[in-house]
Amino acid sequence: MSGSLIRSISTVATPMHSLGAEKKKKTSDKDPGSPLKHFVTAKKRINGIFEQITGYIDESSDFLKVAENFQSNAKCDGLEIVNENHVNQVEQYKAKVAGIAQVISRDKMKVAFFGRTSNGKSTVVNAMLRDKILPSGIGHTTNCFINVEGSDGYEAYLLTPDSDDRKTVQSVGQLAHALCGERLEDSSILVKVFWPKGRCALLRDDVVLLDSPGIDVTPDLDSWIDEHCLDADVFVLVANSESTLMRTEKNFFHTVSERLSKPNIFILNNRWDASASEPEFMEAVKKQHLERCVSFLVEELGVVDRLQAEDRVFFVSAKEALQSRLQKQQGMPEEGGALAEGFQARLFEFENFERKFEETISHSAVMTKFDQHAKRGKTISSALKEVMEDVFGRSSQQRAICIEQCKEQSDRLEVTEKQLDLMTQECKDRIRDMTEDVEKQVSSAMREEIRRLSVLMDEFNTPFHPNPMVLKVYKKELHTHLEQGLGRNLATRCMPNLSQTLELVQTEMTERMEALLPPEVRQQCMEQSGAVLVRREPFEANFHLDIHNLCADFQENIEFQFSLGWQALVRRFLGPKTAKRALMGYDDTVPRPLPPAEVGEVVLAPHVQDLMAQDAEIMARFITNLASIYSRSSVGVLVITGVIWKAVGWRLIAVTGGLYALLYLYERLTWTNKAKERTFKKQFVDYASDKLQLVVSFTSQNISHQVQQELSGNFARLCRQVDVAKEELQREISQLNTEIDQLEEVQQRAKLLRNKAGWLDSELNSFVQQYLHGGNMSG
Ligand code: GDP
Repeated sequence: MSGSLIRSISTVATPMHSLGAEKKKKTSDKDPGSPLKHFVTAKKRINGIFEQITGYIDESSDFLKVAENFQSNAKCDGLEIVNENHVNQVEQYKAKVAGIAQVISRDKMKVAFFGRTSNGKSTVVNAMLRDKILPSGIGHTTNCFINVEGSDGYEAYLLTPDSDDRKTVQSVGQLAHALCGERLEDSSILVKVFWPKGRCALLRDDVVLLDSPGIDVTPDLDSWIDEHCLDADVFVLVANSESTLMRTEKNFFHTVSERLSKPNIFILNNRWDASASEPEFMEAVKKQHLERCVSFLVEELGVVDRLQAEDRVFFVSAKEALQSRLQKQQGMPEEGGALAEGFQARLFEFENFERKFEETISHSAVMTKFDQHAKRGKTISSALKEVMEDVFGRSSQQRAICIEQCKEQSDRLEVTEKQLDLMTQECKDRIRDMTEDVEKQVSSAMREEIRRLSVLMDEFNTPFHPNPMVLKVYKKELHTHLEQGLGRNLATRCMPNLSQTLELVQTEMTERMEALLPPEVRQQCMEQSGAVLVRREPFEANFHLDIHNLCADFQENIEFQFSLGWQALVRRFLGPKTAKRALMGYDDTVPRPLPPAEVGEVVLAPHVQDLMAQDAEIMARFITNLASIYSRSSVGVLVITGVIWKAVGWRLIAVTGGLYALLYLYERLTWTNKAKERTFKKQFVDYASDKLQLVVSFTSQNISHQVQQELSGNFARLCRQVDVAKEELQREISQLNTEIDQLEEVQQRAKLLRNKAGWLDSELNSFVQQYLHGGNMSG
C-alpha cells in the first residue's frame, strides 16, 4: 500500500494533503472508527462474558453446596447427586476463571520500538502519542526500557522496579530528569510511565508503547527479548533512512522471529525528511531501502509475504509528524515552522503507518490474547455444562427413586392402618370372649369353694370361748383365715388355667401386632425392651374377698336350747321364721309385703306363697293361744294335767316325765364349749355361704375385669408401638415428599445452569465468530 501510495505521489501531481484526506476517507468509509476499537470492543465483550462466567461459577458453586447439604441430610437412599469430582471441578474453574478475568482486565496491545540509538524511537513514540512524553534528542539517550501506558487519574507518574512508590512527573523535563536520576546499571530494567488516558487517545485504547535502549548498546539481546518482547503484539524497527539496515538490527529481529512465530514487524525508515534535501536521489534511495526491507521481512525473516511486506515498510519523519501535531494542538498551522518540502506526504505516510499499525496490533492482540481466553472459556463452559448435565441426570433419577420409595411407604402405611383396624376389632372380640370365659370359670370356682366352706372352717383351730370379748377376737381371726383360705383356693383353682389362656392370647396378639411393624422398628423395640415387643409383668389376679365386711353382721346363737323344748318344737314345726314371729308373740294382723327371696332360695309363685303364709298364720295363732293359756293360768295347767292323768295313768306320766328330764339333763350336760363351737361354725358357714353367694357374680366380674384390664393394657401398649411405627412412617413420607420437592428444585436449578452454560458457550462462539474468525475484521 505504501509502495503504491509513493508511486501515486510521484506520478500524479495531486496535493499530498488532499490525497491523504481522500485515502483517509476511503479507510474511514471501510471502518469509521479507530481500528484499535476492534480490540477495545473485543476486550469489553470477552471481559463481559468472563464476568458472566465468574457469576455463573459462583452460582454453580453455591448451588453445589446447597445440593451437597441437601444430600447429606436426605433420608432417601439412592444416588449421589453431587460428588467430590463435581465440586472440585467447579472450584478449580472458579480459580481459573478468576485468573483469566484478571488477565483480560490487564490485557493491552503492546508495541515495542527497537533500533539503534538516536534513530528516533522516542520521537516516533512521542509522535504517535501526539505529545512530548519521552525525552529525546542529544544527551537524552534512553538507557533502559520505558513502558508508556495509560492511567486513569489526572497525574502522570513513574514506577521503577526497585520501588512501588509512584514518582510524579509533570513534564518531559521532569521525566528526563527522573530517568537520568535512575542510575540504571542494567539496560534491561523496565521503567513504567503512566500517562493520563485523558491526554492521549492511543493510551485510552489500551495501547502500551515500549521504548528500548539502542540495540547497538547491548550484547544481551536474548534477555531483552525474554523479558520484554514475548508479549509484544507488534515490533517497530525504527531505522535511519540515512543508512542501510545494520547487522545488529537484523540480528535482533532474527532472534525475535525465532522466539515468536511470525511476529508483526514494521520498519520505519525514519529521518526521511533528510532525503528531501536531495530530491533527485530520493526515489532511488527509497526503492533501494524498500527492496532491502521487503527482502529482509520476506526472505530473511519469512514473517510476511511480498504483498503484505509493502504495507510494513514506511518512510517517515517522526520529528516532523510530532512537530506538526504539536503545532496543530497549539492552534498553529500544521505545515508551519521549519518543515522541509514534501512533509505532507511524509506526514501522510506516518498516518498510514499508524493506521496499518493499529489494524495489525488490534487484530493480532485479539487473536493472540483473546483466542486463548475464548478457547479456555469454551472448555470451562462445556465442562461445567457436563457437570450440570450430570447433576441434572442424577437428581432426576434420585427424584424418581424417592417417588418410588414414597409410594412404597404410603402403601405400607395404608396396609398397616387397615390391618390395625381389623386387628383392633379382632382383639376386642378376643378379649371380650376371654373375659366372659374367665367370669364363668371364676364364678363356678367360687361356688365350689362356697360349698367347701365347711372344710375351710374345720381347718380353723383357734380355741373357742363363748366369752363375748374372746369371741370377737375369734371372729376376726376366723375372717382372716377364711379370706386367705378362699383367696388361695380360688387362685389355685383359677390361676393356672387363667395364666395359660392369658399368655396364649397375649402371645397371639403380640405376634399379630409384630407383623405390622417394619423389621427395623421391631428390632429396635426388641433391643429396647429385651426380646419382647412390649414388656409384660406376670399377671396376678386379686381374689381377695372381704369376709370381714361381708360377715360383719353375723350374730351367733349359742345359748342352750333343749331339743324337745316347746320353742324348739315350734321352730321345728313351723320353720325358723314363722316360729320366730309366733315366739315373739305379736299379733300381726296388718298384711306385710313378703321379704325378697334371698340368693339361693327357690322363688315360688305368688299365690303359692300366699297359701303357705296363711297355713303358717293359722298354726301360729293356735300355738300362741295355747301358750297364752298355759302361761296365763296355772289353773289351766292343773286342768290339763288332770285330764292326762285320768287318761293315761300316773305311771306313764312319771316315766315320760323322767325320760324328758333325763334327756334335758343329758343335753344340758353335753352343751360344752366344743358343742358351742360346732354350732357357731355351722351358723357362720351358713351365714357366710349366703353372703358369699351374693358376691359370686361381683367377684367373678371383678376378676374378669382384671383380666380385661391386663389384656387391654397390653393391647394398648402394642397399639402404641404400632402407632409409633405409623407416625414414623408418616414422618418418613412427609420427609420424602419434602425431599421430592427439593430434588425438583435441584433438578430445575441444574437444568437452568446447564442451559446457562450452553448460553455462555454460544456467547463465546459468537465472540469467536465475530472477532476471531474475521466476522468484523477490519485488517
Ligand atoms: P532514540 O535514541 O532512538 O530514542 O532517538 P531520539 O528520538 O532521541 O532522536 C534522536 C535525535 O534524532 C533527536 O535529536 C531527534 O530530534 C532526531 N530525530 C528524530 N527523528 C527525526 C526525524 O525524523 N528527522 C530528523 N531530522 N531528526 C530526527
